[in-house]
Amino acid sequence: MDNNQPINLKALTHQALRDYCSEQGIPSYRGDQLFQWMWQKEVHDLAEMSNLPKSLRESLEEVTSITQLERRKETRSKDGTIKILFETGRDQSPPVESVLIPDFDQEGAPQRMTVCVSSQVGCMFGCAFCATGKMGYFRNLEAWEIADQAVQMNRVALDAYGKGITNIVYMGMGEPLHNMRAVIDSVGMITSPLGLELSPKRITVSTVGLAKQIKQLAEQKAAFNLAISLHAPNDEKRDKIMPINESLNLSALQEALEAYYQAVQKPVTYEYLLFDEFNDTADDARALANIVSWIPSKVNIIMYNNVLGVELKRAREQRLDRFMQALSKRGVRATVRRSRGDDIDAGCGQLAIREGIAKGKSIAKA
Ligand code: SF4
Repeated sequence: MDNNQPINLKALTHQALRDYCSEQGIPSYRGDQLFQWMWQKEVHDLAEMSNLPKSLRESLEEVTSITQLERRKETRSKDGTIKILFETGRDQSPPVESVLIPDFDQEGAPQRMTVCVSSQVGCMFGCAFCATGKMGYFRNLEAWEIADQAVQMNRVALDAYGKGITNIVYMGMGEPLHNMRAVIDSVGMITSPLGLELSPKRITVSTVGLAKQIKQLAEQKAAFNLAISLHAPNDEKRDKIMPINESLNLSALQEALEAYYQAVQKPVTYEYLLFDEFNDTADDARALANIVSWIPSKVNIIMYNNVLGVELKRAREQRLDRFMQALSKRGVRATVRRSRGDDIDAGCGQLAIREGIAKGKSIAKA
């Protein structure tokens, strides 16, 4: 660390903030107060932290800073979805995006308010259907940069709909388990009673299936939910659209998920984008039903937001109906998720791509 650089207090976890205070000869409970000001009261100016002694505020001001992600652009869909592009500042790295997906009841009152956050700038996994995958990888987000998306989107939700966020999904840009330490720390910041106070049961982390990290989550008995981006029912098809499958195939995934379930006893959710004439036949449904039987699980069949320059297309309604019937015949209960925010490029990485982004690193095949 550059000793001349001010310490970003926001980058410290709750415990690290307490430790920092102790190291400076400040009572550690001041760390609790600082954490609450930043993460619950959204105050970023030490001068406004009225329960801290003036002398402490002044001495902290000399050696610390408190940063926030800057919003570059906001777009709103006709269906109420709101997407924000956040600057990531350093190294000329491109912006990341967060999406607020509100659900309304029949009277139009807001119900579930889900926010989708990014965990990396770009992504190196190169899934064929994904706009972020086309960007390549730039860098991991820090824990605070992930948690700050949630806090800022909570403010966006309150301002737009009078209701804060109720659920968080780590399904934006990046592969969360490729940035596991920061993801776990960000969950700690978001769930803290001195922060947003969201229950870990309302947080879902999604992965393409990084087996080693799934086993680590099992060992740590992670309290948040796990979703698997499956998108194909067998290795042959998965190899074609998700390069990671060539080194971590479905049997590696099965082994990791069995260990996960044994340790945490929680079902996982499979995310399955339905692509026209690629993974939407009765045979595909049969193969998917087999995967679903590995451990207790739920299935979301997702209607794809077509991405510019991607050959895979959203399945037609008729094919969706047949696919759902085939699943149902095999006793698989699946939910269809309609795409939201089509008119604002709300699919993963789409808006950032349109903003004109340079290429990062990638493990994808040409
Ligand atoms: S789907 Fe996820 S893992 Fe695959 S390229 Fe996109 S962001 Fe990366």
